[in-house]
Amino acid sequence: PRPKDCPLDKDELGTSTWRFLHTMASYYPKSPTKKQSEDMVQFFNIFAQFYPCEPCALDFQEDLFMRWFGKWADFLIVFGMSMDLSVHIPKMIRVIEANIKINPPRTENQDALAKWLCERHNTVNVKLGKPVFDCSKVHERWRDGWLDGSCD
Ligand code: FAD
Repeated sequence: PRPKDCPLDKDELGTSTWRFLHTMASYYPKSPTKKQSEDMVQFFNIFAQFYPCEPCALDFQEDLFMRWFGKWADFLIVFGMSMDLSVHIPKMIRVIEANIKINPPRTENQDALAKWLCERHNTVNVKLGKPVFDCSKVHERWRDGWLDGSCD
């Protein structure tokens, strides 16, 4: 095994980060204020920009649909300049707006945030061929301990 004081590799960073994120989500307020809810959205949007594993961060942004939006924006600019797409652009923009709203952080309460994060982690699990986690057990795993008492 590598010494403990080496820089983190991708998997060490990933596991540590998921541990932090899931624990934070499982202790997020049950009834957050509007400000707390907005701050948490902001937290994930900034996190997705700066997560220090470039392919991981780009895919995570795409899962949150920010990169997808970026690609479409480039497409619209390039093609919009070369031909008159004025008829199609409003429709495309509606499609973009619909898609950008697919997976934004769900910060309305603790359960919603924990489930949303579990689903995002499962997207990565599927990509890496790892087992999908049962999101109904997310608080058992990260807050309460397993019902069989094995964490007591
Ligand atoms: P991890 O996936 O790190 O999981 C840690 C523990 O979380 C597990 O033991 C399990 O008990 C629990 N768990 C598993 N799934 C869930 C879930 N859905 N909800 C709640 N708890 C769960 N690696 C890459 O190679 N490519 C990538 O693109 C990539 N993207 C990443 C994006 C992000 C935002 C993060 C934080 C990590 C990413 N990683 C990526 C790292 C990867 O997800 C794993 O952390 C790494 O492969 C180590 O996996 P692991 O088997 O130790 O368990």
